[in-house]
Amino acid sequence: MSVGFIGAGRMAQALSRGFISKGIVKPQKMMASDQSESILDFMKKQGVSTTNCNIELVERCDLVVMAVKPHLVADVLQEISDFFTTDKMFVSIAAGVPLEVLETNLPEETRVLRAMPNTACLVHAGTEDQLDAVTGLSGSGPAYAFATIESLADGGVKMGLPRDMATKLAAQTLFGAAKMVLESGKHPGQLKDEVCSPGGTTITAMHELERGGFRGTIMDAVEASALKAKEMG
Ligand code: NAD
Repeated sequence: MSVGFIGAGRMAQALSRGFISKGIVKPQKMMASDQSESILDFMKKQGVSTTNCNIELVERCDLVVMAVKPHLVADVLQEISDFFTTDKMFVSIAAGVPLEVLETNLPEETRVLRAMPNTACLVHAGTEDQLDAVTGLSGSGPAYAFATIESLADGGVKMGLPRDMATKLAAQTLFGAAKMVLESGKHPGQLKDEVCSPGGTTITAMHELERGGFRGTIMDAVEASALKAKEMG
């Protein structure tokens, strides 16, 4: 079976690398389409054929994986749907794009699947250590974040805020900070420095966090979870 990736970005690269290293699909049986030549270079180096034309990819592949960003899925479906025949299979990994949207934009009776690979795919380098580290960080991480939100809310309640408002503020604060890290591309330490005015409230609070071993405790938690994953693995 030949497999084609529409969009050759991070997920397509991680999945194709995984398919090759596990011997699931040979590179000669894979193809990737993207508008960016520099992105396609990675695929070429792996022996995967490349194209700038999504329609060519659809015509040449039995299984087509939609790996563009979610907001682009509908446009790409419109572009390829006339060339999609029912002997082919379609898989979307786009987050938040429902099956119905995929099915209504493809010919009737097309076999359509939705899959949600997790971040571990992105570091699939065949090394167990990295996968254990991902478990310690982002597998167990939501629990650390929930505990942080709860602690922030407790602090707010202690200082007089109603519980509902404190929890919402705490969650929005973490959400906003995470968004800034992802969107600004700045080092989190720099963003922290930018919000600490000399002699101000935030640096005073940071001092308390440091005194309590905040960062070391979180690092210890990631390490403990990763070591546990390795032990169980
Ligand atoms: P990415 O931005 O790294 O890759 C997307 C690629 O699509 C880019 O190389 C871009 O040039 C290309 N592209 C844009 N328009 C195109 C078009 N019209 N035709 C062909 N190619 C086009 O994104 P990603 O992180 O690889 O995510 C891809 C999909 O995987 C998303 O829908 C996302 O929701 C889903 N996903 C990502 C993750 C993750 O951890 N990154 C996890 C699960 C699912």
